[in-house]
Amino acid sequence: MRKKIVAGNWKMNKTFEEADELLFDITKRLENLPSGVQLIVCPPSVYLELATDIVEEDDVELKIGAQNVSEHDAGAYTGEVSALMLSGMNMDYCIVGHSERRKYFAETHEMLAGKVDRLLEYGIEPIFCCGEVLEEREAKEHFAVVKAQISDSLFHLSYQEISNVIIAYEPVWAIGTGKTASSAQAQEMHAFIRNLLKEKYDEELAGEISILYGGSCNPGNAAELFANTDVDGGLIGGAALKADDFIKIAQSF
Ligand code: PEP
Repeated sequence: MRKKIVAGNWKMNKTFEEADELLFDITKRLENLPSGVQLIVCPPSVYLELATDIVEEDDVELKIGAQNVSEHDAGAYTGEVSALMLSGMNMDYCIVGHSERRKYFAETHEMLAGKVDRLLEYGIEPIFCCGEVLEEREAKEHFAVVKAQISDSLFHLSYQEISNVIIAYEPVWAIGTGKTASSAQAQEMHAFIRNLLKEKYDEELAGEISILYGGSCNPGNAAELFANTDVDGGLIGGAALKADDFIKIAQSF
């Protein structure tokens, strides 16, 4: 059975004190979660140690993920964080290829393939983001765009390797805009992605990989989105910055 997952992407938000408070507020609400739902928090990298310390001290069922990793092993890459460094901090997950990184930091399919490889070498599960911009959807190119993103950055992986990857479909036009994909649009793309996995690997593997939806998901629309057969949870931006909203989303299965 594939995992149900709700992951929060804090992006570049929160002061140290606010991050501490939000982590505290989330951990004290964890007992209200339905069983079998994996909750993941991805704070900015400077707060990762704070987050893992809180999880260890309180011994709570909350997983921590980073928002980015270098595609290089080590060396003269000022400002970058390696997969080895993340694994030393007991990181479980790391977001890869968020549309903001593709857009503002010019991340290419090839770079993302390298990031996925580094993470898997160190036992960290990539949360691989894909999704089309509005013009691509309007031009009916959204399936081709997502297919290229997935095949160019993931399809070099072995059967064993890809079974440790989570995919997040995030239509770029829905991120931070308040415009959510309809339940039918989300299901259609998730089924398309699962079929790509089936064609490249096999049906069993396609059935095991969690595919999350991301893009203005909130407590008001999560239940309808998560009710779809191929939607296994969400990657949440804005609504992950408030403990109540984040937990309500996780209660929407
Ligand atoms: C995101 O940035 O991954 C995201 C889904 O953001 P939001 O929920 O704010 O649209």
